[in-house]
Amino acid sequence: MNDDAPQSKTTPSWRKPPPSPLLKGTAEKILHLQRWTERLFSFRLSRPAAFRFQPGQFARLGLDGPLGSTIWRPYSMVSAAYDEHLDFFSIQVPDGAFTSRLATCKVGDTVYVEKTAYGYLTTSRFVGGSNLWLLATGTGIAPFLSILRDPAVWVQYEHIVLAYSVRQAADLAYRDEIAALPQHPLWAEQGHKLRFVPIITREQLPGALSQRLDRAITDGSLETAAQLALGDDSRILLCGNPQMLDDVRAALSARGLRPDLGRAPGHFASENYW
Ligand SMILES: Cc1cc2nc3c(=O)[nH]c(=O)nc-3n(C[C@H](O)[C@H](O)[C@H](O)COP(=O)(O)OP(=O)(O)OC[C@H]3O[C@@H](n4cnc5c(N)ncnc54)[C@H](O)[C@@H]3O)c2cc1C
Repeated sequence: MNDDAPQSKTTPSWRKPPPSPLLKGTAEKILHLQRWTERLFSFRLSRPAAFRFQPGQFARLGLDGPLGSTIWRPYSMVSAAYDEHLDFFSIQVPDGAFTSRLATCKVGDTVYVEKTAYGYLTTSRFVGGSNLWLLATGTGIAPFLSILRDPAVWVQYEHIVLAYSVRQAADLAYRDEIAALPQHPLWAEQGHKLRFVPIITREQLPGALSQRLDRAITDGSLETAAQLALGDDSRILLCGNPQMLDDVRAALSARGLRPDLGRAPGHFASENYW
């Protein structure tokens, strides 16, 4: 080593402590936890006073990780844009860096919430349309619960179809909330517009479809269950499992429906969760 070389006054980057999560987020508290199944749970966080979002958007949530790091993951808001708290619905991935930590959290523990909300899985992106179709697999129901808590959506559309695909009947989280949605005082006069189509792919349950979403579109059973036709007046949001969404997009395209792109308005838009 050359002793005459000037010594750097800055700390080498490998020795720098990781950036504080408070540079991009606020520290919020877990107010409530609810377990649905071994792999599914919901949690409620305090809401930062300045945090704003559109129904359907997501926020990045942070948890303390190893060696002072913070692990960030995107999460869709379940709660309404006007609620005083923020609700989220989560999978528990075995050995998942974020969810295996989150699953051990208790009421009162800290979760960081990034200051800005993101995402285009919103109804405001669409031009026109009279029927709204919300097609979810698994935890992909989360943004649609927020959208369905927006009074403007109930006024805007003539019919709203919520199709929610899970493997087992026990995975059908929020089913009581969904059943109660039409009677909500903020839009009760519009409540008749909602058609709920549960899909359970690995069990038979009366009143639920059992084929995958893409097949239910192709064979017409989704439309039969919803008593509504997919067509030019449909605006469709898809959320959840990326393989499933690929197949659903292909099924919609085969029906002559087009993706909604900024430069070319269309019928459907989607958000992959991984
Ligand atoms: C825009 C956006 C919004 C999201 N919103 C939610 C949400 O509201 N709720 C939620 O649970 N997750 C959501 N996710 C996924 C979430 O960010 C994490 O991937 C998930 O919490 C797992 O984190 P992890 O670090 O434990 O595992 P990761 O390393 O992130 O994921 C490991 C593997 O787990 C599987 N996986 C990841 N997420 C899911 C899931 N949701 N359902 C089933 N399998 C999954 C995939 O096979 C993935 O490769 C969202 C992702 C995106 C991109």
